[in-house]
Amino acid sequence: MECLLCRVQKVEIKTLDMQIEVGRDIVLVPMNIMVCSNCGERYYNTENMMKIEEIKSKLKNRELDVIEVGKVMRYKYPIKFDAFS
Ligand SMILES: [Zn+2]
Repeated sequence: MECLLCRVQKVEIKTLDMQIEVGRDIVLVPMNIMVCSNCGERYYNTENMMKIEEIKSKLKNRELDVIEVGKVMRYKYPIKFDAFS
């Protein structure tokens, strides 16, 4: 399939980690989706979107098995710029 964005014939099925937010947490869910290997544009179909919604609600109800793969950290001090004050 041709990419609608870059017009290159490089759209193929790949397994990519979808980032799904649950409150302040982010859960990576590997999913087969159509993606352009030239520009990275992702093409979600109705089935993908429905599955993502289904997974979101299951995650909210803690019905899916997840493992911790990393940490999200935040720098303690806000970075300020004189130009904005
Ligand atoms: Zn493309």
